[in-house]
Amino acid sequence: MAAEHAVERLRAHNVEFEKDIIRLHERVVVAVGYSGSNVSMLIGDDGVVIIDTTESTAAATNILTEFRKITDLPVKTIIYTHSHRDHIGGASVFAEGGSPEVISRANLSLDIMDDGSDRPNPKRAILARTKRQFGMGLADKTERVSIGVGPSDRPIKGLGAGFLAPSHTFEGDLHEVSLCGFDLSLHAAPGETDDHLVVWWDEQKILFSGDNYYKAFPNLYAIRGTRYRDFGVWADTLDQLAAFNAEQLVPGHTRPLTGVDTIREHLLDYGAAIRSVIAQTVDAMNRGETPLEFIEHIALPPELADKPFLQEFYGCVTWSARAYFEGEMGWFDGNPTSLFPTPRRDKAERLTALAGGADAVLAALKAAQQSGDHQWACELADTLLDLQYETDTVKALKADSLVVMADDTVNACARNYYLVYAAELRAGDV
Ligand SMILES: [Zn+2]
Repeated sequence: MAAEHAVERLRAHNVEFEKDIIRLHERVVVAVGYSGSNVSMLIGDDGVVIIDTTESTAAATNILTEFRKITDLPVKTIIYTHSHRDHIGGASVFAEGGSPEVISRANLSLDIMDDGSDRPNPKRAILARTKRQFGMGLADKTERVSIGVGPSDRPIKGLGAGFLAPSHTFEGDLHEVSLCGFDLSLHAAPGETDDHLVVWWDEQKILFSGDNYYKAFPNLYAIRGTRYRDFGVWADTLDQLAAFNAEQLVPGHTRPLTGVDTIREHLLDYGAAIRSVIAQTVDAMNRGETPLEFIEHIALPPELADKPFLQEFYGCVTWSARAYFEGEMGWFDGNPTSLFPTPRRDKAERLTALAGGADAVLAALKAAQQSGDHQWACELADTLLDLQYETDTVKALKADSLVVMADDTVNACARNYYLVYAAELRAGDV
């Protein structure tokens, strides 16, 4: 794939994140493009219901300003579709100093928020990788073209600062509520997270799906670092969402969908894509293939791969297959050679000697770059870095290759990771 083509495809996907206050119904509006995620407002008789709250107080403030041009009614209820920061981080702004009811499922996970405990956790590692995945510190639009499911220029001041603890949670699969004159049903819908819910307004057949659907291949594995997400459960949930026969669908990210047939197609194909990854990975595992073997051939079938809403702008098919393997089997790839591997530096020394010495490896690295083979250039760079050979030079060369690779992928997470990591290499931070 030509480099320009990949980054231009990613740039074109940004049409999904152009700022817009979309009116789905005289009593329902959705803010798209103001933050990493969508915020919906249901305008009732004596107050409004807010579904999801963005990742930051700055983004939430911008959206509330737009909502206040539509209605002065107080926010009576906030609903969290799930625990990811981009849905719970701006709630206090919508509360406007009051104390609205905040509803979530009882199992709302706050792993990525500060739980105040002394237990060891890899929060620092996850934060460093999160910064890379979302391209934090990169220039808006030019470097950070997209975050895959949101605009490149989302405001992040007050990131996570507006979280309000739920005041009302529910156990079980269904919670029916009457809020501000809306009869809503909240359904447990485990998928991208275990604590997911979807909101169904039966009277107008509008479904708020949270992040169990958005217009990009699902993030079955996030490179910022996540625990295994149960793929089969997510696919089953998509069947359940399709069965609503919704006339309008509001995803957690990307623009709403309209039309019963369109919505069913999207939801069922989304589930079929997940099941395709599961089936292919299981087949490969049962043939004895290791992850590095099966990622060479696992791909969506053409009838799914061509769907615009299954492009790998956010999730990635081969990363998902690897995550499924690990979720089912753990880290061991099945090859006994992998049980107690040669230490990296030792291996680098031996391979470099075979190759004619470190100078020869460095020359091969430069030749790989000249020929456009930047993945191989990075792998040779890693060998030399293991040897601590000409470290500054090699880091600079690796950074050069990562920058080229960034333009050659449609995946926003990979692109951002490459670019932030390149900057860290140049700054001597890694
Ligand atoms: Zn989200």
